[in-house]
Amino acid sequence: MIEVMAIKRVSGGRAIGTILALAATFAAACACAPSGKGPAGTAAAPDVDGAAVLALAAELAGPDYSGRALGSPGGALAAELLAERLRGAGYSVVFREFPERVPVNAGNAALETVAPDGARRSFAWREDFREIARGGYEGGRAEGPLFVVSDPEAPFPRGSILLVPGRLHDPEDDASYAARGAAGLVGELVGTDPARRPLWAGQAPGALVEPLAGFVKLGISAEAFDLLSASPPGTRALIESPLRFVDVTGRNVVATRDGDGGGPAPRLLICAHYDHVGTDPDGSYFPGALDNASGAAMAVALGEALALALPDADLAILLTDGEEVNLSGASAFARAPDFPIAGISALNLDMLGSRADMELSVYSLGDSAGSKLARSLVAALEAAGFRAAHEAPVLNLDHGPLSRAGAGAASITEYDTADYHTKRDLPSGLSDVELDRLGDALAAWALAEIAGR
Ligand SMILES: [Zn+2]
Repeated sequence: MIEVMAIKRVSGGRAIGTILALAATFAAACACAPSGKGPAGTAAAPDVDGAAVLALAAELAGPDYSGRALGSPGGALAAELLAERLRGAGYSVVFREFPERVPVNAGNAALETVAPDGARRSFAWREDFREIARGGYEGGRAEGPLFVVSDPEAPFPRGSILLVPGRLHDPEDDASYAARGAAGLVGELVGTDPARRPLWAGQAPGALVEPLAGFVKLGISAEAFDLLSASPPGTRALIESPLRFVDVTGRNVVATRDGDGGGPAPRLLICAHYDHVGTDPDGSYFPGALDNASGAAMAVALGEALALALPDADLAILLTDGEEVNLSGASAFARAPDFPIAGISALNLDMLGSRADMELSVYSLGDSAGSKLARSLVAALEAAGFRAAHEAPVLNLDHGPLSRAGAGAASITEYDTADYHTKRDLPSGLSDVELDRLGDALAAWALAEIAGR
């Protein structure tokens, strides 16, 4: 998921004891849930195995896939694995490619100061500071006097490294700072942690970012900001960002099942992004288990369950690339879909089965078809024992481009911010019990949706 602005969590929360009690109840309930095909050819609610979903998510979050960045070998391998699973369930699978320009971490990262008395202070990459993709400036190295900004309009010495407090830090000011001769900027991060990796440079949907040079940017924690802003007058700063933009090819995985032999015309599209935010210069990677190996694995499991339950139905699963960059895979699909999407329903899965709670948010653009779909999802999730709420308008998930192309689209997500876009987003943060319960609820919901209710 792209880092969202103004996302509200579902209010409230559950104590751990309650979650465990619920989990035990769910496990007992799932053991006796019906599965497979019902009598006389009617489809019973298909069963989704949470442990299998977790196993596939854990595989995708593993070292072979190296954070599944758009255009990376790990991303390509993930696409192959997902395609193979869906082919095994009887789907025809094609890869649809699209161009993208992405930030990679290809250089050194550094933040150091030298006081007038020669005292040096070094800060730690991913603990105290990180890269900033917003604004589209490439990284590199810059050195100059440290200047604490208290008014974005106020003058500063040319060649300065600007230290900008969070309340004044706005990428819209970059061009002005650069034009007035700033060598670089260190901005205080607010509500986001230096351990996170951002990819979206701020470009419009469907557009390639036009990289800029000559102005090096870093983000810094509040604690490190306080230390830096107390530096004695005459302190110099050396900053280095590893960020470079490269042209790559994204790859959507489009799987269809032509159940009636008349060409695929699915009523429901299930989608999830399989990409994540990649690697760091030291070769370490961001696993992205919750974001969004979980959703991609769930989409595959639902695809398998629905193919078994509805052998004569047209089905479609879309696994998008480039969600983390700019929803670019979903946008590419919406521009040239493999089947008509106006008027169909689209369920997007993004970050599912976090152990942290059993609460889900359902997001839509707030349009009438999206809201209708979201309401039916909330009802199905609540009936399965989840807390769920519809929030709209929420723009920056993969349902957005599908909605704008005429689908009734909504996303379900557990936007768990604790490990979001950090190397801590591991499979151990996922719950097979919760994935099992959720998978069964979504499979039953999908069955009704495809049947036309
Ligand atoms: Zn993400």
